[in-house]
Parts: sequence; C-alpha cells; structure tokens
Amino acid sequence: MSRLSFEALRALDLAHIWHPCTQMKDHESELPLIPLHAGEGPWLVDANGKRYLDAISSWWVNLWGHANPSINAALKDQLDTLPHAMLAGFTHEPAAKLAERLLQRAPPGLSRVFFADSGSAAIEIAVKMSFHYWQNVGKHRKTRFVTLANSYHGETLGALAVGNVELYKAIYRPLLMDVITVRSPDAYLAEPGESALAYAERCAAEVESLFAESADEIAAILIEPLVQCAGNMRMYHPRYMQRLREICDRYAVHLIADEIAVGFGRTGRLFACEHAAITPDFLCLSKGLTAGYLPMSVVLTPTEIYNAFYDEYSKLNAFLHSHSYAGNALACRAALASLDLFDSTDALSRNQSLARYLEERLQKHFADHPHVSDVRQCGMIAAVEFVANKETRQTFPWRERRHLRLYRHALEHGVLLRPLGNVIYFMPPYVINENDIDLMTEVAVAGLNEAVRQVGSL
Ligand SMILES: *Cc1c(COP(=O)(O)O)cnc(C)c1O
Repeated sequence: MSRLSFEALRALDLAHIWHPCTQMKDHESELPLIPLHAGEGPWLVDANGKRYLDAISSWWVNLWGHANPSINAALKDQLDTLPHAMLAGFTHEPAAKLAERLLQRAPPGLSRVFFADSGSAAIEIAVKMSFHYWQNVGKHRKTRFVTLANSYHGETLGALAVGNVELYKAIYRPLLMDVITVRSPDAYLAEPGESALAYAERCAAEVESLFAESADEIAAILIEPLVQCAGNMRMYHPRYMQRLREICDRYAVHLIADEIAVGFGRTGRLFACEHAAITPDFLCLSKGLTAGYLPMSVVLTPTEIYNAFYDEYSKLNAFLHSHSYAGNALACRAALASLDLFDSTDALSRNQSLARYLEERLQKHFADHPHVSDVRQCGMIAAVEFVANKETRQTFPWRERRHLRLYRHALEHGVLLRPLGNVIYFMPPYVINENDIDLMTEVAVAGLNEAVRQVGSL
C-alpha cells in the first residue's frame, strides 16, 4: 500500500471514520489524532517517524510487541493455507489445537472451548449459557445476574447490562436487563485501618446474605478477577474470589470469570484465577488471547455445563449461538504462536522482575507525590490515582479533564499513556525493558505535574 503523509492520512481519516469511545469534536483540538505507519516491539511509529512507547499495550491486547517475528511467521504460513472457514460442520488444526492447549493451561476442571470474536461476545455467551443451563436442568426461576459495582464487561447490550461503569451505561439503561449489583471488593474503598483482606471478607459476606435469601432466582455472578480494569484499575484481594467460589458452590450459582483483560499473564500468573486457586464455571478470554493481533474470544466451561446441552436434537436444548468468524484460523494461529512464546521465553518469570522494577520506580516517583492518593500494582498492571487533595482524596472536577494534559504531555515525550479519568495506569507489553520502564514512569510523573498545575483560565 502506498504511504500517505501524516497530514493526508489524518485528513482522510477525519473525513470518514467515527472512532471508538471518542467525542469526535475532541479531534479538532483536545485530542490530536495520530496516524501510524508501523509498530516495532513495544513501539508505535507515526507517519512522521516519531516513536511512542505503547505503555498500555494498545488497549490491553498486545503481549509480545507489535510485528513480533514469530507471530508474523505463523500468520504468514496460515495465510497461504487456510485463512478462515466456518466452524459449524467443519474444523481445522489451529482451532482444535488451540482448544486443547488452552484447556491444558487453564484452571483444572474446564473441558470445553466455545469460540467467538470479541470480549463482549464472550460475556454474552457466558450469560446466555448460564441462563440456558438452568432452564435445561429445570431450574426455571434462576434467571438473574449479580454484578459488582464498578465492573466492566463490554459494550453490547447484555455485556453493558452486567457491567457497572455509569459513563458507558447510564443512557442505555432503558434497553438493559435488570441486574443485582453488589459492593465491589476494591481495596481503595476499604475503611481507614481496614485491610484489603478484611474488606474482601466483608464484601463476600454481603454476597453470601444475598444468596442465602435469593439464590433460587440467581443464575450467576460475574467478576473481573483481581483487577477491575476499565473501572479505573481498581484491585482487590484474591480471598474474595475464594469466598465467592465457596458461596457459589453452596448456593448453586455460577461463577463467571471475565479474564478478558487480566488473562495471559497480566497479573503475574497466566490466569488471575490461579492467584486464588479457583476454577470458575465460565472463563471468558479475549484481548491477549491473540497477543493483540486479531479479534477473537473464547468461553471455557466444565463438562457439567456442556452435558446439560448435550442430547438428541429433538430435545431442542442445544446452544444455538454463533458468530460468523468463530474460530477464525488466522486468529487461532496467532493465539497458538503466543502460547508458544509463553512456553519458550520464560516470560512469566521475566515479568516478575520487570514488575518489581516497575514497583520500585513507581514508589520513587509517586508514593510521596502531593497529588497521589494511591499507587497499586498487580503483576504487570500498575495504577496511580491522582487527586486534588491527598488527605480527603477529593478529585479534580471532571469537566477540567486534567488527564488530557497528561495524555498530551506523554505523547509529546514519546509515550502512549491513556489515563482513565484520575487514574494513570501502566499495562505494557512483555517485551519492554528497564529503560522503557524508566521512560514511561518519568514521563508519567512529569505529565502528572503538568496535569495538576493550576492554570489561570481553569
Ligand atoms: C475489554 C473488555 C471487555 C470487552 O471486550 P471487547 O473485545 O472490547 O468487546 C470485557 N471485559 C473486560 C474485563 C474487558 O477489559
């Protein structure tokens, strides 16, 4: 393809594209649209040749850097063999092998893989399967879903309904199914002096009372294990997950684990559920699944769920859900190549030392910062909460959009950071090094100073 100049590409885009999660008017001034020409490892390269360290893995999808040589080679091979074929009535080696290998690595007890094409679709599937399971086994009243405050599960109507980020949800409320929302175990919300563990226990006890009263109407509870990512990277104690597993078993409620963002090593283990040694009834994976190459998601379930749908066709109890691109062969090959990299590179243990280094840099730059109320980290995910007043944790008025100053400052200095409101976060690809960590944390603190500075006109 011929290469358009920076300005020509920007103009071509702005004349035609409606961007995701964007007030398009912002592109006229607040948020410069950046035309890219290439990606190399953890770096994105714009059409002027300027480089940006992708400190957020391009919306949390990239694991091994952009244009990773071994994933590229696998895709080129697949491209010449079978790029895509429908998965109903047919199969192919990439899908069958990927399913086998995911089940080998996933928490024990999961035995089936259902393919879809996005994280939101995986959530829709888990919700529909859970509901349908209870119908198939004759528990017709178990139709409701429980979700955590501040949770995020995607943007399609079912996924939006079981999420809880008001900014994305409020306007659509009349379209959404009614859910039961329970307190988030988010450690930032613990009472002064209350440990993250104690707060997790307190929140789990509330779920237990809810189930004791109404489990006969509840199909499932959904969680994002350990980190509520879109909900400002809030983190919680793994004990909460263990308690939910016990309570779900006791009251016959499904546990749906949405590891779409936290799966594939982000938290320091391949899957976040491993931190609590639990197996969910539905495990939803996407984002890092294909290492940031192609859209794909999967839902993993144990045999018990699968068997409730397995019968004579005439019973009409099969799960008749499909997406055109389910099991896309190219996406499966990217996922297999990514699993190969986990096996061959020792990435999870390398990440542990990178995570320690990141922690040290964050402590140095942010722990005593007068506008930082919290620095938290879970493996390769780290977040810094910035506030107007450190004592009261009062935030800046949202209309000031101070995080955009940080965003622009970081871009100018060659780092892609995209704060979620008052939260600066880091979720880098695993191919970064200590110099990259120095750069992203130094740029972040300078950007923060820029963001909190009083400006006359505000
Ligand atoms: C991104 C995300 C989703 C939605 O995935 P899409 O592919 O964007 O539809 C769902 N859950 C979590 C936890 C996510 O981070």
